[in-house]
Amino acid sequence: MAFLSLHSVSKFYGSSCAVSALSLDVAQGEFVSLLGPSGCGKTTTLQMVAGFVPVSSGRIMLAGRDITHASPESRGLGIVFQSYALFPHMTVAQNVSFGLEMRKVAPAERQERARRILSLVHLDAYAARYPRELSGGQRQRVALARALVIEPPVLLLDEPLSNLDAKLRADMQLELRQIQRKVGTTTVMVTHDQSEALSVSDRVVVMDGGVVRQMGAPLDVYEHPGTRFVSTFVGHANLVDARVFICPATGRPRVALGSLELDLTDADLGASAAASATSGTALVSIRPEKITLRPRGSAHVDAQVQERFFLGSQWLYRLKSDVGDWIVTRPNDGHALFEPGEWAALDWPAHCLRVLPADEAVVAS
Ligand code: ATP
Repeated sequence: MAFLSLHSVSKFYGSSCAVSALSLDVAQGEFVSLLGPSGCGKTTTLQMVAGFVPVSSGRIMLAGRDITHASPESRGLGIVFQSYALFPHMTVAQNVSFGLEMRKVAPAERQERARRILSLVHLDAYAARYPRELSGGQRQRVALARALVIEPPVLLLDEPLSNLDAKLRADMQLELRQIQRKVGTTTVMVTHDQSEALSVSDRVVVMDGGVVRQMGAPLDVYEHPGTRFVSTFVGHANLVDARVFICPATGRPRVALGSLELDLTDADLGASAAASATSGTALVSIRPEKITLRPRGSAHVDAQVQERFFLGSQWLYRLKSDVGDWIVTRPNDGHALFEPGEWAALDWPAHCLRVLPADEAVVAS
């Protein structure tokens, strides 16, 4: 049952289309991320939900009410932007209770609600400090507390963690998710960071050029990308030109990567059917961490190691083969290392090979 719904929402600036016929249902309590490269229309979508940008066409519903043309104030949504803009002359407690004061909540209740929410974001001890006396992560949590304290029906987050350094950002991602689970607020977050979207969301909406390319649970989008764009934007992928055909002997679909021919798993029948229906050309996508390196000649494709990098928890190999270049990551678990110049055989389980259409068809599943 959708709590927040966007029905074919579009935004045009003059003749240029920022968001095209976007439809999305968000369930109550769900955490949805809009993920995509710069300029894909994520922020515009969020701003239309917030009411700061008028829609060109389409409808936005919140809890059964049509809010398409409602003022931002009357939507009562909680919003946290990248520049979390705390009031510098107010203490943390005053920043947090400001929204309640505006809503004419009585002082005693204001104080109690601000205290509770500050404890939730682990800032009880900082209530009397001013924003300038806080770290970046603490300021970010005040901004979150300030948005949550009004108990909004929906929390909108626009790149809320992008001002933080990498370590703090990773910590805050976990914390954000924990807080959201505890409070249960329906949340829509904009991010261009795929690992952030995958780690905090119930569902990810991958956007490009103003349209939704794919939506689904993080694991599903990662494991079953529907297009070249999704497979490379959400994680890394080895992409190899391939040909899909029906084996005359078995009647089963097979895929050819150069001279290598493999059976296709049931999971790939949809994409392979689409490919065969056109010219038979397709793309094969295999995630770098799904590939194992074995002695030359003992697996699917022989490839020569070009470079090897140490990444701490894993090794990254760049390899070259007849059918293309490859990236392989292997855990730093003491396995025998392959040296640059050495040959290795690339192996992968059948279900880790993903067949994609050669063209960039839009898949909104
Ligand atoms: P970023 O991650 O860089 O913020 P985004 O995915 O959030 O990007 P939007 O800000 O939604 O992208 O912009 C989508 C498209 O709409 C872009 O091509 C942008 O240039 C255009 N756009 C946004 N706001 C306006 C405006 N006020 N007038 C004209 N074009 C605009």
